[in-house]
Amino acid sequence: MSTYTAKCMCGAVEVEVEGDPVGMGICHCKDCRAWSASPVNGFAIWPPEKMTIAKGEDQIESYTSSEDSHRAWCKKCGAHVYHIAGPLGVVDVYPALIEDLVFTPGLHVNYESTVMPMKDGLPKFKDFPAELGGSGETMPE
Ligand SMILES: [Zn+2]
Ligand SMILES: [Zn+2]
Repeated sequence: MSTYTAKCMCGAVEVEVEGDPVGMGICHCKDCRAWSASPVNGFAIWPPEKMTIAKGEDQIESYTSSEDSHRAWCKKCGAHVYHIAGPLGVVDVYPALIEDLVFTPGLHVNYESTVMPMKDGLPKFKDFPAELGGSGETMPE
């Protein structure tokens, strides 16, 4: 089974995840936009127990953006490293930080909030798929 390592920009923090992500996609929500300072956020999710902090635990700071939702970054370089999304029961370890993971998004979530529509043929969920506690409704591109 593969293990992937996510490294922050300065290398002080390393996070390992075991096995392939259970999902990869693109989130358009306002929180992710503010957090990533970007029009969208590319995510890769694993069950939280698949993640371990391999290096620099004392360099990690985190912000509780909503109940049971913890967004963590490296105190040295400011790079965002992971987001424990408690209500969804997953951790998003940012695929942009994992060199040997090919980012292959399968869906878009929170598309109702989009500021950057994307015509890529992938399903566009209004909020989240039903398996993740969302409405399961999709929207036109
Ligand atoms: Zn760093
Ligand atoms: Zn989001």
